This record gives sequence, C-alpha cells and structure tokens, in this order.
Amino acid sequence: MAGEVKEECAVAAITLLNGEGLKTEGGAAFYLSQMLLQMQNRGQLASGITTYNPKRTQVLSTHKKVGTVSETFAINSKERFSSIMKQFNGHSGIGHNRYSTSGTDDEYSAQPFEHSGSKPWEWFAFSFNGNIANFTELKASSGPLPSSRPDLDTEVVMHFLAKAQAPVKADIQDVFKGLTEKFDGAYNIAYVDAEGTVAAMRDPLGIRPMCYSITDGFAGAASESVAFYGMTDEDPKTLKPGEMLVSKDGTAEVKRYAKSPRNAHCMFEYVYFSNAASVLDGRSVYDVRWKLGVELAKQETISLNPNEFVVVPIPDTAKPAADGYAYTSGLPAMEGLIKNRGYTGRTFIEGANREEKVKQKFNVNKAAIKGKKVILIDDSIVRGTTSKFLVNHLKENGKAKEVHVRVTCPPVRSPCFYGIDMSKMGELIANRHSNSEQLQRNGWNNLDEEVVNGIAKEIGADSLRYMSLDGLVKCIGLENGKKDMCMACLTGDYPTPWGEKLRRKALDSYLNGTEGKRTYE
Ligand code: AMP
Repeated sequence: MAGEVKEECAVAAITLLNGEGLKTEGGAAFYLSQMLLQMQNRGQLASGITTYNPKRTQVLSTHKKVGTVSETFAINSKERFSSIMKQFNGHSGIGHNRYSTSGTDDEYSAQPFEHSGSKPWEWFAFSFNGNIANFTELKASSGPLPSSRPDLDTEVVMHFLAKAQAPVKADIQDVFKGLTEKFDGAYNIAYVDAEGTVAAMRDPLGIRPMCYSITDGFAGAASESVAFYGMTDEDPKTLKPGEMLVSKDGTAEVKRYAKSPRNAHCMFEYVYFSNAASVLDGRSVYDVRWKLGVELAKQETISLNPNEFVVVPIPDTAKPAADGYAYTSGLPAMEGLIKNRGYTGRTFIEGANREEKVKQKFNVNKAAIKGKKVILIDDSIVRGTTSKFLVNHLKENGKAKEVHVRVTCPPVRSPCFYGIDMSKMGELIANRHSNSEQLQRNGWNNLDEEVVNGIAKEIGADSLRYMSLDGLVKCIGLENGKKDMCMACLTGDYPTPWGEKLRRKALDSYLNGTEGKRTYE
C-alpha cells in the first residue's frame, strides 16, 4: 500500500436518548471527550469530535487538533474546556483518536472527516479505525480525489461513503453493506449526518474491536469497553462483526448490515494494543495477559530459585503477565523498571533515535534487581530495539546478574495490513535472523531454536523464550480458537485476499533486496 499513514486508532459515537442523567455542559461533546480520554492508549497523535445539534446553524460541527485528548479539549483548563464544550454542545456525535506511524502529524489527517453536500444526508462526518488493504486499487478506481493527500485511506473511505449517498438518499445500513463489497481490510466506522443519524459499524471480520452500550440515557459505541467507564454500571456489549449500532430520533438499535464470513479478531489487541481494563469480544484483556504470564511460567525450562530470581515487567503492558508468571512460579514480582511518567513520546513509532527514546522512557530501579537473576517479561519483540536496550540497561545500571527474556507473544514475522504498525520485513528481528527458507515458511510454525538463540545473542539475553502459538490461542480463549483470530503477523496467513497479496509482495521485495521504506509501499 502506498503512503505514509496507517491508522491504529479509536472511534466513538454517542446519542443522548432522553437527556436525563446525562445533562451536562457540552452534552455529547462532553461524553465523547471522556470516552476518547479513556481510549488514549489507541492514539496520542491527534483527537477530535463532530457533534450534531439541530439548534445550531452549523448543524454538524467539528473540533480536532494534533495532540493528546487532554490537549485537544484543554482538559486541564476549566475555562478553555468549558468554552469548547459550549461551542460544540450537541445532542449526538462521533469522535476519534489518531495514532499515525510516521511523518504527517498534521491537522488535516486528524479525524473526524467532514463531507459537505447540498442535501442534509450528503453532509456527514465519520471517523475510522483500521486500514484498507486494497487502498491502491480503490484509489485508482475512485478517480482523482478532491484532496492534496493521496496517501490517506480515510479519503477513500469518504469518497465511497459520499458516492453511496448521492444523488439519492440511501439507508445507512445499505451504505455500509456497499462498503463491504469494495473494501478489503479492517474498517470500523463511526458516522453522523446532518439529519441526526448516528451509526457505528464493525467490519464483517471484526478485526478491530468494537462494543456498545444502550441505557435509558444514551446509546454509544466505542473501540474499547473502557470508553464507557463512569457512564453506566452495566457491562458494555460486543458489537459483532457485520453489525452496526444506529440511532435516530431518540431510538437506538443494533442491526446486522452484512454477513460475517468468519471472525478474524486481532491477537495484538489482547497482547499489546488495548487497555488492560477492557473486555474485547467477551474476554478481559487483563485476564488474557495474566494467563499469558501463567502459561510462560508453565513452559519454563530453567530452574527458578526464589532467592536468586526476580520477575520484572516492561511496564505497563507486560505487568499483568509478569504478575501471572510470578504467582505461578513462586518468584517475587519486582518493579525493576519504572516508567518515566513525564514521558509521552512514541518510542515505537519514530525510526531515528529509538534507543534514546527507550532510555528516556524507563528508569532502572537498582534496589529491586542488584545481584539478581531477572526474568524480564515483555509483551512482544518487534524490531528488538527495546529489549536489547533494556537487557543491557538492567545489567549495566541495575547490576542484574543475568537477564532471561520471556515474551507473551510469538515472534512477529510479517507486516500488518489491517492497522497495526509492525514495521517492514527487514526490520523485524526474527526475520533478520532467518534464512530465505525459514522466511518463506509461513503457517503454523514456531521459530527454529537456532533463530531464537541468534535473537537472544543480539539482545544480550542469557536466555529467550517466546509464547507458543498454541499457548497464545489458548490464553485468548475465543470460542473457535485460532479460527476466530487474525495472527497474520505471526504466521503469515492473512484472513483476506489483499493481505495475502501484500504479504507475497513484501516478502519478494525483502528477499530480492528491494524493500521500500515501509513494507506496504
Ligand atoms: P521493538 O522490539 O523495539 O520494535 O518494540 C517492541 C515494543 O514496542 C514492545 O515491547 C511493545 O511494548 C511495543 N510495541 C509493539 N508493537 C507496537 C506498535 N504497533 N505500536 C506501538 N508500540 C508497539
């Protein structure tokens, strides 16, 4: 896929049903800002909302900015926050947090995107979470887009949403169904139009998570269940693949807009991306991470003396797994690494100076690890920069005697074309240690031992063990196991035709030394 921009984002939608209990300054604007704040983990680059208010001349109005949710809504300034709430006060609306993976930190890429038209239903706004794998093909078929940003798949989504509704009004259910006939990839969309229809859809494979809640006071949908924290005592429900939540004129319902051929839930949402307090497709993310730690402890082969060993998580994601590991193996769990709370940078994303950023992000707590053998728990190893730096840091500055790295996720070996930045083939540490035969072997294979040993050596670990694919599937525990999951970045098996196609292209270009700046170019 061409372009610099990929989306790892959060979407939210809300309609206030009767206003009671939710009466507050800003109305929908207030609730959206709180929902986005709860989902800051899904994107710190930009944030925004579009609200609907029939009493306003500007029936749909959008507020978006580059920056965190706090910055976008001036949450730390009572006066400025209040003025934004007054200006965007609405009856319903949608929101977005954006997490770009490189360059283009401009306001134009921030969402929601608004589309204007002469008819009320042609005036709409939407926000989008995922990545369209057949973006280049769609772009070619859509003709010139009215924008200077041909790299944004959001533009293509907007084009198809607009096309489906012009010149005659179409039912939003049919509009969404039409998208599934064109799009290949992951695409959860929150939508609001100038007639006051609010809709939130989950794509038919359910690659990214989506949940919803309908109470007496509101109907809302969001990427993660944590979004509803403090808004209702009831547990949010899962929006199933191919379903949408639609609300208009004070009513709300969940409808099926398209058939779902299968589930392909992204394993990385559980391993790294989602908030530990979220429940995705009926599974608690915290619980999954704890079980991954327990499983790693059960798979352990070295003998662990509690007087010699301590378990240290790489905070914050690996914390539940480290606790599960420590509990199972009878070792103390220690905070050998403390996350610098002032640090808000994006370690993973920036190519240059990543080591420097990892250094700024973590402090070594010598008191917890000096003279100890450390079991270092990480959620995933992608390029290996983080673990390489931290292993050395624990030994050099923390005076740890040994560092044994345990990872809750099998090795990442293929790019993600559905919205998680997994870097390019040649940057992935597991690929750099594999020969051409090992690289072409996709499917249900764990890494050869000599490859794992090579990685251990590069990162300076005294030993290295990854979670097995079977272990991961078991810990996530979806009803149909691996059949319900997308694990393409681990196995090279993609759930859509364009995923397969792009993977072949990426592998070929890596093998013949022509890999671009990014894998999906
Ligand atoms: P590295 O091996 O240095 O490339 O980075 C791996 C670390 O970055 C992991 O420990 C994760 O905590 C984090 N990470 C992995 N994938 C992502 C991603 N797509 N976006 C942001 N952080 C990530």
